[in-house]
Amino acid sequence: MANSEKYNIIVVSGPSGSGKSTLIHRLLKEHKNIVFSVSHTTRPKRDGEIDGKDYYFVTEEDFRKKIAADEFVEWAQVYRNLYGTTLDEVKRKASGDQNLILDVDVQGAANIKKQFPGALFIFIVPPTLAELKKRLIEREKVLDGNIEKRSAAAKEELEQYHLYDYIVINDKVEDAYTVLKSIYTAYNNSAVKKNSFVESILAEKKV
Ligand code: ADP
Ligand code: 5GP
Repeated sequence: MANSEKYNIIVVSGPSGSGKSTLIHRLLKEHKNIVFSVSHTTRPKRDGEIDGKDYYFVTEEDFRKKIAADEFVEWAQVYRNLYGTTLDEVKRKASGDQNLILDVDVQGAANIKKQFPGALFIFIVPPTLAELKKRLIEREKVLDGNIEKRSAAAKEELEQYHLYDYIVINDKVEDAYTVLKSIYTAYNNSAVKKNSFVESILAEKKV
């Protein structure tokens, strides 16, 4: 995609139950210049989820129409459902001072990396697979089942860790959040993000 460097994109992935939603929600709450990329999905809505806020919940027919119309920057089948990020979502929310955070699986991250090589890629991992399964079981009451499938898929996803710039180990949530916040701060102060600031100093008239 042309001008891909003008978009501020933060990609967060990790096995289901690793703590992505928990950590992302906190980051969003504390940083007004980060906005969430709302994906389209064919999966059923869970209790408490809001259409248009957590996801755009659509039928498979509608999702496939969007694929045919080339509306997605990336889409993938994850477990039994389809998930995708639209170009519209990226264009509307990821420019200027605003950073767009995407919660996508490893396939989505690989596709985003091809189109937006300047994006920041963060991988959330559990302290152990046993702990991951425990968290998934505890969450089951509010989940759509699929625990065995999600737990088995975790290893396959973890194998893709090399796609990412940073790994956040989510053992104690406070510690994980501190690490995530530090990564975000570093990214915001990277040379690529701050070059226009330095250029503006260089352009100052001599005093
Ligand atoms: P994901 O979005 O990656 O699927 P969630 O953020 O929904 O994961 O977390 C999965 C479950 O684990 C939730 O019930 C959440 O409250 C819990 N959880 C998240 N982080 C921790 C942690 N560090 N310690 C214990 N439980 C956690
Ligand atoms: P969940 O059903 O638990 O909300 O999400 C299941 C998986 O789908 C997670 O790994 C999440 O990161 C991924 N996912 C959510 N939205 C998208 C998307 O737009 N694209 C891709 N590729 N994966 C997504």
